[in-house]
Amino acid sequence: MAIKKLNDYNIANKKILVRADLNVPIENGNISDNSRLISAIPTIKTIQSLGGITILISHFGRPDGLHKEEFSLKQVVPELEKLLNFPVKFSSELIGINVLKKIDKLIAGEILLLENTRFFVEEEMNDESFSKELSKLGDIFCNDAFSSSHRAHASTVGVSKLLPNCAGHLMKKEIDTLENVLKKPQKPLTAVVGGAKISTKLNLLLNLIKKVDYLVIGGGMANTFLFSNGLEIGKSLCEKKLKETAQRIILEANKNKCKIILPHDVVVASEFAANANFSIKNVRDIDNSDMILDIGPSTCDKINEIFSISKTLIWNGPMGAFELKPFDKGTINTSVCASKLTRNGKLISVAGGGDTVSALKKSKADKDFTYISLAGGAFLEWMEGKNLPGVECLL
Ligand code: AMP
Repeated sequence: MAIKKLNDYNIANKKILVRADLNVPIENGNISDNSRLISAIPTIKTIQSLGGITILISHFGRPDGLHKEEFSLKQVVPELEKLLNFPVKFSSELIGINVLKKIDKLIAGEILLLENTRFFVEEEMNDESFSKELSKLGDIFCNDAFSSSHRAHASTVGVSKLLPNCAGHLMKKEIDTLENVLKKPQKPLTAVVGGAKISTKLNLLLNLIKKVDYLVIGGGMANTFLFSNGLEIGKSLCEKKLKETAQRIILEANKNKCKIILPHDVVVASEFAANANFSIKNVRDIDNSDMILDIGPSTCDKINEIFSISKTLIWNGPMGAFELKPFDKGTINTSVCASKLTRNGKLISVAGGGDTVSALKKSKADKDFTYISLAGGAFLEWMEGKNLPGVECLL
């Protein structure tokens, strides 16, 4: 069964309960990145154009089930209004008679944002009676929060079972894109996995080696693979206990005809600090005072060569300690190459998860990538091959 869209319903004058992800970062009282609000706009505009009423709900930060003003969604109202060029009403209550009265007064096209779903412990418990209260807020439930769909919460899963449901634009776009790259990709398919540790990305690696033609491993996690191959890695970040696991991944990859690409040259320094003295070394020449902080230029060339023969690319995690100059070079060099190939129509490139988005933004490569997913954990779980409860419940 296919997931329904807004257009599959006659929504004129209907109240559409939209679960969005408005969880934007706040620094010194200001929104430091409004990307998630921008992504929420198309669904709201569609509801307006179809004559529906938008009732918006979302989580915001981690208030741990308590009403804490610093986690009030009221803070996003001015920016939402600016992006929509339309007034957004706000209710400091999420459920109950007062909210229902407010909703009853709304007319077609109007937008009401309700307070943080995580002000209730029942939200993360996917509590049945709380879900029932949420279901009273609308006639149709529209889930537009792919980024929250890896958790079965009341505002994603619970309520979806109590109302006719559908996926919003962002949810649909994420599902379509991720299905295209992982389930029916244009081959050769390459995955780049970087970042700090293997332990947090074990399931991801195990799933990818079954699907991809090339698996590029960079960042701190590459050190564990180099160590497991018997190489000296000095003071570098390394999960020595996962030596056997790394070997098993290499073995499984071979069985699946997935070629693993590890760095053959690296940038080393004696300390984890910006502008630390550095040198470029072959991975066979590392000594015990060295700390590997980035992939080297020759490895970048090799990775870029693989990109040029690939049709599809999935990217998660930086190639080095990209927050510290000059150890951002490997990530910048390779992501710029991927973005150029994408711009020239030669590559479909999708990135997401954790630090990946900020790493790609740093190189400005994000602009040309085919798709950048803002769904951190949900993106990773999808890539691990898991079924996401927030998506399953819409089927
Ligand atoms: P993750 O959240 O697992 O994607 O990891 C991202 C983090 O990995 C970033 O903060 C990077 O600084 C860090 N990282 C990447 N490469 C290295 C490395 N060679 N040594 C230490 N940290 C690294």
